[in-house]
Amino acid sequence: DVLISQIAAGEVVERPASALKEFLENSLDAQSTDIAVSLQQGGIKSLRVADDGIGIPKEELALALARHATSKIASLEDLENVASLGFRGEALASVASVSRLSLTSRARGERHAWRIDADGGQYSALQPAALEGGSIVEMQDLYFNTPARRKFLKTEATEFGHCEEAFKRVALSRPDVGFQLTHNGSAKWRLPSSEASKRIGAVLGTEFAAAALPLDEQGGALRLWGMAAKPTFSRMGRDAQYVYVNGRFVRDKLIAHAIRQAYQDVLHHERHPAFVLFLEIDPALVDANVHPTKTEVRFRDGQAVHRFIFHSLHKALATTAG
Ligand code: ADP
Ligand code: MG
Repeated sequence: DVLISQIAAGEVVERPASALKEFLENSLDAQSTDIAVSLQQGGIKSLRVADDGIGIPKEELALALARHATSKIASLEDLENVASLGFRGEALASVASVSRLSLTSRARGERHAWRIDADGGQYSALQPAALEGGSIVEMQDLYFNTPARRKFLKTEATEFGHCEEAFKRVALSRPDVGFQLTHNGSAKWRLPSSEASKRIGAVLGTEFAAAALPLDEQGGALRLWGMAAKPTFSRMGRDAQYVYVNGRFVRDKLIAHAIRQAYQDVLHHERHPAFVLFLEIDPALVDANVHPTKTEVRFRDGQAVHRFIFHSLHKALATTAG
């Protein structure tokens, strides 16, 4: 069973950054308003997320580490209409099978916090712990028990870069939530809760904010909003391309194509544009259930989505193209 978990874990926990993404999404699903991340050695040695969310009741702590146990989906109808970021109940079980994972949490109304440790899938008994509220999830020594996997981890700097990118993706999607990140004890990011445009500026830099055009277009059941910079702003290269569908970061060929076409059509140049775009769509018209890591989407009417994104971005870029 542990072996099966370890195999499945490979898909969910490719590197520290994938665990970070899952932990951050869990904190958001728990309605946190402040989330602090601390990493040691690129997240390989230790990756810790502390939040002020609703916490996990004592009797659910062990369950939180079990495979396919989720508190977020109660029925098949729920699956059609997923509002939470997580819904598979896979992430913590996967991380637990390939690292030393500890979960400390204090649900509202409890007199103190409780802690559970999982060492490569072996669970400890619950222990009382001190915590004012919320949860602390800490992963240590990723792949300590699967040396073959460990070999595929890159340098500390590279893994830190991936963690930072995962952090930025989430921070861009939730400007209303405060985020912090420290690495090896030094503060790297401090993002207080703010308006979307301020958050985008804080994450992508003032240069981007100055070059970017705001857009907000509505078409039937679709809305596209965010900021898009002309390709002349090329300093940030490919990295500054963020697309979200209903708040989830996605990497989607259809959307990427529509964006590229709009840049090409207006500015005759589609290389290295920088943008942060949020597509809002009726959840019934999109299937986010394609892959465990959930960066892919499938639209019921892809052509309509393509047309809408192309036209919305085209319009925004054209207003200042001259
Ligand atoms: P999923 O998010 O798909 O439900 P996970 O394995 O990521 O599955 O998490 C399992 C369960 O643990 C969640 O359903 C949730 O109940 C609980 N959980 C995990 N992290 C937190 C957190 N930071 N705050 C509150 N509950 C959490
Ligand atoms: Mg989750």
